[in-house]
Parts: sequence; structure tokens; C-alpha cells
Amino acid sequence: MGNTVHPMHSSFVNADLVECFLRFLPDFQCLASTILTSKAIYNVFQQHPRSVVRSVAYNLIGPALPQALRFVRCKNAQLYYKPVDELLGEDDIQKNPVLSSEDITSLVGISTSVQELESLFSWRMKDRRFKTSQLSLAESTRFQKAMYRMSLFSAVYGCNAHESAIGSDSDQEEIDSALEEAKTLRKGFFGSLSTPELRDIQWVETFLRGVITRDYGVCFSTIPPEIYSPESSFVLYCAPHHVIDVYKRGLDCITEWDSDITEEILFYNDFIIEPLTSVLVDRTEQPLLPVTQKQPIIDEIVGEHDRCSQCRSDTVKCLDLWGPSNWGYLWGTPPLYSIEQLLKGHVGANLADRAHFLALLCETPAEDLVGGLFDYKTPAYSTWNKADWLCPQCLEKFVRDHLHIWYLGQKVKRGDVIPDNCWYGYNCRTQTHRLAHAQKLNHWCEPTRGDAPPTNV
Ligand SMILES: [Zn+2]
Ligand SMILES: [Zn+2]
Repeated sequence: MGNTVHPMHSSFVNADLVECFLRFLPDFQCLASTILTSKAIYNVFQQHPRSVVRSVAYNLIGPALPQALRFVRCKNAQLYYKPVDELLGEDDIQKNPVLSSEDITSLVGISTSVQELESLFSWRMKDRRFKTSQLSLAESTRFQKAMYRMSLFSAVYGCNAHESAIGSDSDQEEIDSALEEAKTLRKGFFGSLSTPELRDIQWVETFLRGVITRDYGVCFSTIPPEIYSPESSFVLYCAPHHVIDVYKRGLDCITEWDSDITEEILFYNDFIIEPLTSVLVDRTEQPLLPVTQKQPIIDEIVGEHDRCSQCRSDTVKCLDLWGPSNWGYLWGTPPLYSIEQLLKGHVGANLADRAHFLALLCETPAEDLVGGLFDYKTPAYSTWNKADWLCPQCLEKFVRDHLHIWYLGQKVKRGDVIPDNCWYGYNCRTQTHRLAHAQKLNHWCEPTRGDAPPTNV
């Protein structure tokens, strides 16, 4: 039995079996802890370290491993502003199959972000019922390849590479010529990809911008907000996979951002979409994603024909319907201004309660707030249920009609004694400029006289 080894504390270990087991481990943490459990297992690993490491890398990343490895190697080698044919290729995994420890560390770092983004993408673009990825293997592979290719593009032509393109003392002529050069190189990069691959990138780019602009605040009529802003271009210019950090912690986590407009804006504005669409136009393709056709990457959208439970509108697509499983996406850091706008009348400017109302918004996650509104449902909404799927317009109407009642409920919960109602309720103007009046009467209620409808609807 040439393949049997004899560890100190067990009768025998079949080396082939152990090697096979090691190859099936899901990630490098498992591999490290497994090979340290016994000398025998460690010895088996030492006989085939490279192939075991490559198998575990494949288990971790999946079929997009060649694209992921190409990204980490080009980034670590700082191949800034090189023409696409001077970058390492997607076949580098065949040419240089041995993964260095630097390769592994970088792969682990980016794969975590890309997997988290995949879950977010699945939640927004495929199945709004689940926060974890429901993508098929083929969909997941297309998404991940697009993400790694965008990350590579950003690593070699983006923020970190900028200093290699122009020096700090460059004059206008040098800047103009560096910009032209950058445009040519960037277009060359996308020119090396097929049109379906470009469409995948275009769709992921749209998704990422939606995530970034979500941080500006919620505007119910335009969810998702797909705004082409300098900030969103800049995040993609720094690193597309950092969008997961923006999702979790807001735009402030992009520390490189400088709101003063410098000439660098010429280098990052429409960083991905401009050269990509330019290649599409050269190929006589539509520059924009055709909105009426099936979108790239996703083969099947779950609940594709679902309608708003209340208005049954057939113009709202199923992915823009909101219910308990996706309210959490509506906002992360509280969009104080835009939520405040939904308050009726002038109660948002109430001198006595405004600060507490805003503080409460800050500590109430979106799903708790929207879910909490249903606890204060008015008789006009008796047929509306918490589990309903609502279009943005119906959701906005529901929030408008219940936000002030919910807040009054929170005041009661914290033990406040609620004074008598002001006759003018939320429409009272005095509450906005006389503190004593704002404190003396309750304004989080319907008006019983005076101007009836609120002015901000
Ligand atoms: Zn509706
Ligand atoms: Zn009043």
C-alpha cells in the first residue's frame, strides 16, 4: 500500500482519500485548519500543495477563477495604463498555474466582496424574496466574470493608476494628451470582450450605480435611482467591488473622494460606460440596454408577472415591488431629508419634536419603520396587509398617511404624556415658529379645522 501513511494517533490514513477530501474544502481557512490537525494530513498536503490549493481556489471562486486571478495578478503587478494585450490574459491560470500566497490573499479579499454583491444583485434583479444569492450557476458565473473584469479595468485604468498617467506638475497640454491616451486604452480593453460580455458588464454597472445612489436618499417615484453622478463614477473608478462597503456604510467610506472638482473628473466621469458604449456603437449595437427586452445575466426573474397588490398597475415591474422581504433595501443610512418630506403639513418642522423624530429615524432600520407603520393602519387601509407587494406609488401613499401616527405611537411608547390635539393638527403653522405652542399641544394628528389638505402632496 504505497499510498498509505501512518500518523501517530490513528491506525492508517489513505493518502488518496485525504487528498481528495482536501480538494473539496470550500475555502483556504478550512484548508489551513485541516492540514494543521495532524502531521499525516499535513504530509499528504505537502505531496500535492499546488493542485490542492488550486482546487480550493476553484471551490472558493467558481468558474470565474481565471478572471479573478487575472485581476489580482495585474493589480499586484501594478500594470497601470498598459494596452490590453500587454496585461496578463484570462489564460494566465494555465500559463502560470501555481498560486502564490499573495495571489491567495488577494483572491480571498475580493471574492468576499464579489459574493456579497452577488447576493445583493440577486435580491434586486432576480428574486426579491431572498437576501442570499438565488442565481443559477450560469447566472452567477456571468455576474462574477463581469465583476472581476470591471475590477480589473478599474485597477489598471482607474484611481490607483492615475498618478502613472499624469504627474502632479503636468500642464494642460500633457493632461489633454494623457486623457486621449487613457480613452484609447480603455476602449481597447472593452474592445477585447464580446458584445454579450459587454452587455453583462453594462447591466452590473447599472446595478452598482443604483446601489451607490441609494445612499442619496429614497425617492419613491424613482426606485431604483439610476443617476449618473460624479460620486457614482468615482466609486467605480476606485474599485467597483467597494460598492458593497457603500451599501453597508454609506458613501463616506470612500475616503479618496474629494468633492472639489479637479481635472481628475475628466478621467473618472462615466469611467466605465463611456468607453464601453463607444465599442458597442462601433459594432453598430444599441448603446443603451434595450429596456423592453430581457436584461443580461438573469435567465429567469422570480415573480416576473407579479403586480402591485393594491393598484395592480401593469407598468411597474416586479422587481420594483416592495414587501417585508425587501423593505430593508429601501435605505441604509437614514435618508432624513427625503423621509421628512413625506410628513404631512408642517409637522416635519415642529420645534418641539423635530430633533427627536430625526434621531428616531436614525436608529430605526427601514424594515422596522415600514413594518411598524402597519401597526397603526387607519380604517381607510383595512384591505392593505403587511405581506402585500406594493408599487412605489402605493408604498409612498401608505407611508405619507401613517408616518405621523407611527411617530405619535413611538412617543406614547417612551412614556410621553400626549397633550390635547391642536385644532389645526399637522397643518398648524405656529408649531414651526413658537416653541411654547409646539410643546403645549399635539400636532401629530389630523386637522379638525382650518386649512384642510396638506400642502406638500
Ligand atoms: Zn400600486
Ligand atoms: Zn398648533
